[in-house]
Amino acid sequence: MITKKRNLKNHLRDLNSNMTQVIDTNKYIEFVRQTTSPASSDFAQLLTRLTELEATADADVPRLLTASLGMSAEAGEFTEVVKKIFLQGKPYNEDNAFHLKRELGDICWYLAQALMALDTNFEEILKMNYEKLSARYPEGTFDVYRSENRVEGDL
Ligand SMILES: [Mg+2]
Repeated sequence: MITKKRNLKNHLRDLNSNMTQVIDTNKYIEFVRQTTSPASSDFAQLLTRLTELEATADADVPRLLTASLGMSAEAGEFTEVVKKIFLQGKPYNEDNAFHLKRELGDICWYLAQALMALDTNFEEILKMNYEKLSARYPEGTFDVYRSENRVEGDL
């Protein structure tokens, strides 16, 4: 409790200190420009990279792109409903639970695209996930220490 109060006090002091600093937004934009990869900033470089991946690495670029954009977007739609229920007074009722299920279905559709791209299936992915978490939590229950102190390779 005392540590928590001290941390909050330090945080507020740092926040106050930072509020008085002048931020050069132009320098930040230039920093962002300089730390951007060629494939992220140049269409020809992006096209070359995608072609290289498709041809030499045998990556299913269209499906990986579709899956990654779609899963993220649909997860956002799911989160939007939860946000409105938790934070903005939207009721948690049958209609909104139905809406959440519909968004979950959309996520699954894009997940299936990812499964096709990676030449795998739901069963393999669920098995992999089960094995990963069983190794992380050998007692079969969540453990804060094990969650925060993972062995190398436990992603
Ligand atoms: Mg949707």
